[in-house]
Amino acid sequence: MKIHHVGIAVESLSAALPVFEKLLGRPPDSQEVVEEQKVRVAVFNLGESRIELLEATDPDSPIARFIAKRGQGIHHLTLAVPKMVERLRELEVAGIQLIDREPRAGAGAERIAFLHPASTVGVLIELVEEK
Ligand code: ZN
Repeated sequence: MKIHHVGIAVESLSAALPVFEKLLGRPPDSQEVVEEQKVRVAVFNLGESRIELLEATDPDSPIARFIAKRGQGIHHLTLAVPKMVERLRELEVAGIQLIDREPRAGAGAERIAFLHPASTVGVLIELVEEK
């Protein structure tokens, strides 16, 4: 298992991108809108993992609600797993609360699922299926 990416909630990509461009010394590798999650994502690839800056595209977006409650900052940590459905069943049996009982579509058409932070020491964990 490895860290696939870290998701950072930002109020505005146009304000956050210059900060990360300074930090990383280059522009993002890609940008896309993920309709299902109502976010615009800017991705910086960093070795085996990446940083994703997430801007809400709708006031009802989970990212907008997170920022309203807790402000900008680290939103979730994503782990790559080889077999998503099997892993979800194992975690459920182990007592981890799942937000998504079945995988759904994430950025780059990957299959993702979220675990509930109430059962993972307050950290929102996302799983992504390794290709
Ligand atoms: Zn993510």
